[in-house]
Amino acid sequence: MIAPTEAPKVQIPGLLHKLGKMTAIRDTSLLEQSLLKTLCPMLGVLDSSLYRIDELTSAVRVLHHHHSRVVESDGLARLVERNEEIYNSANVSPEISGLLDNVRLLGKPCTRKRKPENDLLIAYPLFGGREICGYFVFARDREVTLTEDAIVKGVLEVFSNYFDLLDASQRDRLTGLLNRQALENSFDRIWTILSRSDDPVETPDGRRVQAPSGSHWIAVIDVDHFKGVNDNFGHVVGDEVLLLVSRVMMSELRSSDLLFRYGGEEFVALFCAKSRTEAVALLQRLRQAVERHSFPQVGTVTISIGLSSADPNDLPQEVLSWADRALYQAKRTGRNRICDYQVLVENGELDQASYGASELF
Ligand code: GH3
Ligand code: MG
Ligand code: MG
Repeated sequence: MIAPTEAPKVQIPGLLHKLGKMTAIRDTSLLEQSLLKTLCPMLGVLDSSLYRIDELTSAVRVLHHHHSRVVESDGLARLVERNEEIYNSANVSPEISGLLDNVRLLGKPCTRKRKPENDLLIAYPLFGGREICGYFVFARDREVTLTEDAIVKGVLEVFSNYFDLLDASQRDRLTGLLNRQALENSFDRIWTILSRSDDPVETPDGRRVQAPSGSHWIAVIDVDHFKGVNDNFGHVVGDEVLLLVSRVMMSELRSSDLLFRYGGEEFVALFCAKSRTEAVALLQRLRQAVERHSFPQVGTVTISIGLSSADPNDLPQEVLSWADRALYQAKRTGRNRICDYQVLVENGELDQASYGASELF
């Protein structure tokens, strides 16, 4: 056993307090931010990143955390934190991806010297079960000490175990999609992001640009005549259809779009589109992809979709209920089609109803 040669510089009570705060979080994204927030000051660095690999799409998602000291107009220095999430593996520099390759192959932390910066790029693996599911990366002017190494590994282990627990409770067992609970847990955070109009969004070519207002959309998607699938082919085939429908839809969506299994054969998609036309076009591709797919035994399966724009000034549950009303209309008028709540209201085909009005009066 190696005896630690250096005195621990880390304040253990402070660290335990941060771990306590970390495991009080009930949202996986916040938990990731909290991990970086805990490790940055401990390692004496201002920036750190988390690279995670999505097991369904194999896309790399990068969370950058920046701490910077800003002297404000009152002359006082304040610590400012900024988190940035990127969903494009093309954004991973060759320098970083080379380092991550080595971590993946060796299954242990690796270090690489950076030339112009004259510092060290250090990467730790993040384990989900026995597999590497991500990397914790930071740059520093010196190697990590034995004590720091043990603490980083310990914190990453606590994080991974807790992340897996939280992730399992937010995922649907059959399809692996996020579940209704996850949608309801993250509504507040999603709405906060929507309302910050100065937050940039990612373009398909990886650039970060200003989000035009009214560019977020909610769709409620329901499998048509699904009861018939169960009645005619049994529950096992029904389950297989649900899994295939979710996979076909995922393959049409981009990695920045979110798809939830909201209930039995009902899904909710949250996505970005520049215009209503673009939002409808994306959903048409989704609908057609399911219609074209050949389902074992069953043959053809179709979906109906209700769409609503997601304005941060409206309540999330209200927007969801609008998309649901549009879905009902899609069912009523023939199925295997998309109905848009705002268009239905404009055309006088639906009354503009306020969510929860009946409960209020
Ligand atoms: P509509 O086109 O109007 O949506 O008709 P539908 O038959 O799809 O709708 P309905 O709500 O009548 O039936 C939904 C069925 O979905 C009933 C339920 O047994 C089935 N279901 C819900 N969850 C699951 C599941 O996890 N697995 C399977 N196999 N069936 C499920
Ligand atoms: Mg249905
Ligand atoms: Mg249904």
